[in-house]
Amino acid sequence: MLLTEDSAIAKVSGPKAALLLERNKGIRTVGDLLEFVPRKYLPPGELTDLSSLTEGESVVVVARVKTAATRSMANRPRQRMLMAVLTDGRHQVGLTFFKAWGHEDKVLPGHIGVFSGTPSRYQGKWQLTHPEYEMFGDEADPGVIEAYRNRQIPVYSTTGTISSFKIRSMVKLAFESLGEIREPLPDTLRRRRRLIGRGDAFELIHRPTVDDDPGRGLHRLRYDEAFVLQAILAQRRRAVESLEATARVTRPGGLLAAFDARLPFELTDGQREIGAVLQAELALSRPMHRLLQGEVGSGKTVVALRAMLAAVDAGGQAALLAPTEVLAAQHHRSISAMLGDLAEGGRLGGSEIGTTVALLTGGQSSAARRQALNDAVTGHAGIVVGTHALIQQHVAFLDLALVVVDEQHRFGVEQRDALREKGSKPPHLLVMTATPIPRTVAMTVFGDMETSTLRELPKGRSPIATHIVETNRPAWVERTWQRVAEEVAAGHQVFVVCPKIGEPAVEESGAGSAGAAEEAGDDDDIEWDDDPQEGVPLKELTGVHAMLDELSATPALAGLRLAALHGRLDSEVKDATMRAFAAGEVDVLVATTVIEVGVDVPNATVMVVMDAERFGISQLHQLRGRIGRGEARGLCLLMTDAQPGTDARERLEAVAATTDGFVLARRDLELRREGDVLGARQSGRSSSVRFLRMGNRADEDLIAQAREDASALVAEDPTLAGHPQLAARVAMRLDEEQAAYLERG
Ligand code: ADP
Ligand code: MG
Repeated sequence: MLLTEDSAIAKVSGPKAALLLERNKGIRTVGDLLEFVPRKYLPPGELTDLSSLTEGESVVVVARVKTAATRSMANRPRQRMLMAVLTDGRHQVGLTFFKAWGHEDKVLPGHIGVFSGTPSRYQGKWQLTHPEYEMFGDEADPGVIEAYRNRQIPVYSTTGTISSFKIRSMVKLAFESLGEIREPLPDTLRRRRRLIGRGDAFELIHRPTVDDDPGRGLHRLRYDEAFVLQAILAQRRRAVESLEATARVTRPGGLLAAFDARLPFELTDGQREIGAVLQAELALSRPMHRLLQGEVGSGKTVVALRAMLAAVDAGGQAALLAPTEVLAAQHHRSISAMLGDLAEGGRLGGSEIGTTVALLTGGQSSAARRQALNDAVTGHAGIVVGTHALIQQHVAFLDLALVVVDEQHRFGVEQRDALREKGSKPPHLLVMTATPIPRTVAMTVFGDMETSTLRELPKGRSPIATHIVETNRPAWVERTWQRVAEEVAAGHQVFVVCPKIGEPAVEESGAGSAGAAEEAGDDDDIEWDDDPQEGVPLKELTGVHAMLDELSATPALAGLRLAALHGRLDSEVKDATMRAFAAGEVDVLVATTVIEVGVDVPNATVMVVMDAERFGISQLHQLRGRIGRGEARGLCLLMTDAQPGTDARERLEAVAATTDGFVLARRDLELRREGDVLGARQSGRSSSVRFLRMGNRADEDLIAQAREDASALVAEDPTLAGHPQLAARVAMRLDEEQAAYLERG
């Protein structure tokens, strides 16, 4: 029977290799194997330069056999071994086969072949022992050599015992046993976009001849990946559009109007325009599904709050979901403050049209929690601010009209869906991202939502200067702390950010203060969004506790009021510390990334980031957004021992070079190798792509095309009933997403 792309990989690899391929490369089907793109191609008709071998690193080389001879082994006279020498014309590598049988009639002097193995040094010379190989034939024979002149030899990345050669032979077998590769794309579409057939793409990728460009095959795979993603997103958009929501029509003369009237600043044009869009969408009887992105500090919160007030004016409730307790508490505080007596609904002396803003987090006292739950279910609270705790089952609302998710990429789709189910009809949904996102990501990861972008910052923002401080230069470090002291002397405040909490030198009194917050389930200390990076030195990272001790003992900082903030502190302690800092009662806040998002203290002007190389670009940008929020100039100092020229240093230099979040977001993607777009761990969305390069302009255009094409196709054929191949690929991708989600838990 002929195989298809869906056939199990074991059919061409055998069961043992199948396990390895699945585990190490995610290759489960024959189609996956065909989508396994070679790492590189050996140029046709050229011997490989043999001068650049590395001990223990597998190689694939094209070479000429210079000499080959058998000889018997001293201790086993009946066994003959084959010793040969390979050459590229200048350099040589020895070949050894302990049994000559089966090789001596192939590995012949003057013949050319491709050899693969792991080189070692033996008596000062390079050796390949028992390499895999394929002979092309005698160099003197033009016909035989033609074959090798005519093709590029694919080299696959190896895994465990599976060599590039083995993969090549599996691919060969796959081609032989596959029927015609089924074409998922409609012909008209293929012609319009000038795409080669999927089968031809595989040919180009795995068996290119001298004139072929394997890149054209890869282009087709990129398009296919983009198209399947976009078809899924188009279907999701349709599904959301078909939902019915309660229309929430803004009522004039309500809370929103009163709020606008007392706003201490002018809204930016962007804030006003997006506000109008949100009100118009709330007034529709299908749910809003919108992403609000904007530069750090562009004022997204006010935009969201105005939408929430419009929802309350229309008789509904609004929920604001924040990723951390610190941020939830701060939102609660700042929203209450912005609303003033409008937030004292039902209270004596409160405004007539006021409402109540409740706070619900995992870490709060059970009395406060009970009160908040009650305010939500009775409708007493028009606005409920909270963390993950808001999503839990027993949290009920009287009439939830609008859900705002702040700093989206900490929340998963499933969590949002859980919130959606909190009303008889799905509420309107507004998602805010912490940092600007490049268009490629907007189109893929958030492609099922409409997007609004706040491009301008409110007037009166001060520029932030960012500098790298090399920690191996004591004078620079000393100057840094002096600078901190000067800033405090000038009446400002300072953040010192550390990559970890660390252990306190002396055990804190009181049992289980650490346990409480953990049980509460609010994960305040966000991990850096990048995996440990190449070029990042392994070393002991600076912890908050150690830093606090060190700064307390630093003469330059004598007399300054220092405090620590991190996720392992009790909710009340966290809250009290943040309040004290906001009130100017703390000069220097030594914190983890718990302050990364949303924390808003305009008087803070300096940020010192310890071990800055440990943070990703967007995370540093986000952190840096905590300063420069007021009138005074901001200064961000990135402390690092990353050496110039390393990847880590390059990231820091990118951050130092610009404060434009859109530029940085793109740079971030370029510097990331591949795969995970936003960090799947955080996005909770399947954001991994295999072929598309999210930092690449050409791929950005390709995604846009695929988006247009897929939307058109889904509009015409919503269930893809007329395109079974495509429907199957869509189903497969959805399965993978589901599996990935379950794995992450
Ligand atoms: P982000 O977009 O990063 O979430 P915020 O919503 O926290 O930004 O806003 C940052 C600060 O700017 C807040 O103190 C907010 O009150 C203030 N702000 C928002 N809009 C304006 C405006 N139009 N003019 C002046 N200040 C503003
Ligand atoms: Mg914010």
